[in-house]
Amino acid sequence: MATLLENWRVQAYGDGRAKAEQEKLWQEYFALEKGFYAEVLKDPSHVFTGSVQELAEHFGINVFYFTGILDGIDESLKGFHNPIETMDENTEVRIEIDPEKLYYNMVEAKASWLYGLPEWDGILSEERRRELYKEQKKSGTVRRESKKIYPNDPCPCGSGKKYKKCHMRQDEEMAMKALSEEA
Ligand SMILES: [Zn+2]
Repeated sequence: MATLLENWRVQAYGDGRAKAEQEKLWQEYFALEKGFYAEVLKDPSHVFTGSVQELAEHFGINVFYFTGILDGIDESLKGFHNPIETMDENTEVRIEIDPEKLYYNMVEAKASWLYGLPEWDGILSEERRRELYKEQKKSGTVRRESKKIYPNDPCPCGSGKKYKKCHMRQDEEMAMKALSEEA
């Protein structure tokens, strides 16, 4: 039987469902993910523990999408990885974010609708965020498998606008600002 993660990946990235269905999956995922991060960032030092099922319920997200969340956040945790490859609903997991890693990884994913969440204001200073932003852009690496968002896709922030007219523009403006400060 496929693990939770295998099922998530085949549906989200693979050929587990038709293209239009996959687009819908991502729109739903992005909305849930944004809510999830807004809650986690309210108190970034809070440690969430419980089974996959329990934490999914806590955040009001079903286990399928919560698997995607755990997959996405795994590189941004404080000195700890969850057994995402093998976990099932009853596996104990832990979410304790490392704010700097999380911000950096959001920049890497070009997720301006996430690194631009107002909750960040109370967590990392504007200066530190700018440093992390530049550090990531300079590294030029993209390690994580993430959803490729095309300019004409609906923006992941849920505004209903096209990505190119919404947060794609915001990310490009951030990049230009960072570059001009280098000069
Ligand atoms: Zn947007």
